[in-house]
Amino acid sequence: MSDIIQLLPDHVANQIAAGEVVQRPASVVKELLENAIDARSTSIKLIVKEAGKTLIQVIDNGIGMSDTDARLSFERHATSKIRNAQDLFELNTKGFRGEALASIAAIAHVELKTRQEQDDIGTEIKIEGSQVVSQEVCVTSKGTSICVKNLFYNIPARRNFLKSNTVELRHIIDEFHRVAMAHPDIKFDMLHNGSEIFNLPITNDRQRIVNIFGGKTNEKLVPITEETDLVRVGGFVGKPQYAKRSRGEQFFFVNNRFIKSPYLNHAVNAAFEGLLKDKAHPSYFIYLNVDPQFIDINIHPTKTEIKFEDEHALYAILRATIKHSLGQFSVAPVLDFNRDASMDTPYEYKSKSAKAPTIEVDRNFNPFKEEKLNINDSKRKYIPNYKAQSAGSWESLYEGLESEIQVAAASDENKSSTIEFESTQVTGSLFADEDTKVGHQTTYQLKKKYIVTTIKSGMVIIHQNRAHQRILYEELLKSITMANAVSQQLLFSLKLAFSKTEMALLETVKEQLQNAGFVFGDKHMGEIEINAIPAIVSEKEVSTLLEQLLSDLENEVPETGFSQTDLLAKSIAKSVAIRTGVALGTEQLHYLANSLFACTEPSITPDNKSTFITMTVEDIDKKF
Ligand code: ADP
Ligand code: MG
Repeated sequence: MSDIIQLLPDHVANQIAAGEVVQRPASVVKELLENAIDARSTSIKLIVKEAGKTLIQVIDNGIGMSDTDARLSFERHATSKIRNAQDLFELNTKGFRGEALASIAAIAHVELKTRQEQDDIGTEIKIEGSQVVSQEVCVTSKGTSICVKNLFYNIPARRNFLKSNTVELRHIIDEFHRVAMAHPDIKFDMLHNGSEIFNLPITNDRQRIVNIFGGKTNEKLVPITEETDLVRVGGFVGKPQYAKRSRGEQFFFVNNRFIKSPYLNHAVNAAFEGLLKDKAHPSYFIYLNVDPQFIDINIHPTKTEIKFEDEHALYAILRATIKHSLGQFSVAPVLDFNRDASMDTPYEYKSKSAKAPTIEVDRNFNPFKEEKLNINDSKRKYIPNYKAQSAGSWESLYEGLESEIQVAAASDENKSSTIEFESTQVTGSLFADEDTKVGHQTTYQLKKKYIVTTIKSGMVIIHQNRAHQRILYEELLKSITMANAVSQQLLFSLKLAFSKTEMALLETVKEQLQNAGFVFGDKHMGEIEINAIPAIVSEKEVSTLLEQLLSDLENEVPETGFSQTDLLAKSIAKSVAIRTGVALGTEQLHYLANSLFACTEPSITPDNKSTFITMTVEDIDKKF
């Protein structure tokens, strides 16, 4: 059989490459803006017509190109930015693949005008579908102007795939924002269909963000800053009370390049933990500077993904930095990362003033009466607390909570410290008032999942699993910090097998595990012996609990005593909490509801999910 392999002609290869680099008009905008920045421009103008479908033009005042370079710039793998593979590890430019102009020229009509400062006249080149149509001398100002017209004119399928002008313009504006935010030292203008959309003068990071997102943004920003051997962190996070339901304003820049990183995003969310309402996303504008040696930008053609050499450390630094700033600007409880957690005032008592001790006697207590609880043992042990509390006082509990929520919602810049969730006091005083009798109160379990009960203004629906998570979490946090958890001795010690990495991970939280009630025996041949476990955990839950903990540890990298305790409490609470699908008796329903509203932060789980919702009579009226 004759040979069948042949090299593709350049214009075909370019079209294929274009498929990767140019997905839509916004991709062209990004590449052209980046080239202008690499050319050391101080002023860049973007002109767009019909959301980029008919025209995208970028005019810069950068270094320009010689006539030979102007011609060469459209060749594939033609770049002035790297010379050899080593340069890839010392990148200080946006571009380096030498593909953008070649790709764009393969799928559009392109006109380039360019002049270097020292030259009197410049060069003008016209290219259509990779073919040079003309190259002439021209009069033009210093710098470069590139017009991209009729994008995808020769690939109808792609052109038809473009979305409405509104959508495509949105994408263009997003790219424009990202580039402009990363370079406040450059003036940017943008025009769409002849009218000016943005006019951004040279300024600093903060002012640039404000110029883009509007004057109100300024008061919402909390600066963050940290410098370590690995990274320099700067920028801003939005105050928690301004967090949004959509993931709008979230930006990471690494060495002035916008990047996407779900992993680092997780670090930011972790820093905001406990401060946000359910489903709210914090805003952030975070600038990271890393030695280019330690990153690899090359893993995605559009260059928005980066690999970091020491991702875990970066995660930990970022989270700690943000937590610290939120604390410093008193929008969160202040956490001192160097402090020994065992010296901490237990969580619950922090904001309470000392109270004279009182003796309470439970007159109904009858040691011979059996408890009428029917869930499994581990939860039973946990429930006796309930007796101390009045079963019928939710309404008053909830009222306190309601007013607290209103205060938080009404809080403005000056009052931002109300976000500190001072509810310990509020609920504390409510409990003191145990005699309050509430008339009729009805409580049901719905679908073995929700607890429904009435309050004066309407009703509350509590998620049983999430509520129990919150209750257990706060209890655990307390008992681990005070090291007073109750253990249960095992008749036969458990032996559980773990990998080396897992063993090492468990070792890092051994102390906290012991404080939580675990007693470990010998460790040999990849097995850990467990002699006692926390009273709230049943024996058969132990292995799932430790597995859950290990996977949480892998994702979270807690680096301090406090965050280790926190993670452990969260993890155990998650594993042990009463699941959906478990039928509960009246007493248990009461216990859960009462204990939930006695929590410091009753409205969310440790993972920021809502634990209950309320429906007022007006809400219900509206449905009729
Ligand atoms: P890359 O940016 O990866 O090098 P491009 O295809 O985007 O590849 O650009 C090719 C080359 O053309 C660049 O390396 C640069 O030398 C030159 N160039 C492109 N745009 C400009 C510009 N606006 N000003 C000066 N030179 C430019
Ligand atoms: Mg480029």
